[in-house]
Amino acid sequence: MALTETLPTEFRQKCEGIATEQRSLLNLRAFDPLPADMLAAQLNAKILTPEQIPSLDPSVVKILLDSDQWSAGIINQSPLWIVNNPRHTPARRESNLMHEFGHLLLRHKIVRFDPNTGLPLRRQSDEDEAIYLGSCLQIPRRGLLWAVQRQMTQTEIALHFNASEEMVRLRSNVTGVNIR
Ligand SMILES: [Zn+2]
Repeated sequence: MALTETLPTEFRQKCEGIATEQRSLLNLRAFDPLPADMLAAQLNAKILTPEQIPSLDPSVVKILLDSDQWSAGIINQSPLWIVNNPRHTPARRESNLMHEFGHLLLRHKIVRFDPNTGLPLRRQSDEDEAIYLGSCLQIPRRGLLWAVQRQMTQTEIALHFNASEEMVRLRSNVTGVNIR
């Protein structure tokens, strides 16, 4: 709800445009599912789990593998490497990665880490934008309209787009497309 209040209409339309553009680059239609791994290949992004990060201290690998408290992050820009939490569900993995692709497609600066606390120094405006674009990439408004015209249920829509039902509800709320 807060997202629709803070993000201007033009920005939201731009995100729908990016979601359509990325699909058409892959010869997909606006209502086709866009698997994160397909988009990763298109963007030359390598998706890694913590143990695949070269020269990462084994104690840090263990901490990351034991934790649910993080989702994904861009750890290197050239070549592009994105680390993803392998503990999360497939639907969550999709939204985690789409969020990172959102940062990338919006050309946000890579997040630095506070040397004192070790915590990422995120910019909230960038996060809101990446959340929004990530959700559009997963379920474009046109895709949601298509699904509603086909009288698909919330569960069927979620399965079609490799998304969680929570994501389907979120997209329904922000686009004003009512689902059953
Ligand atoms: Zn982010």
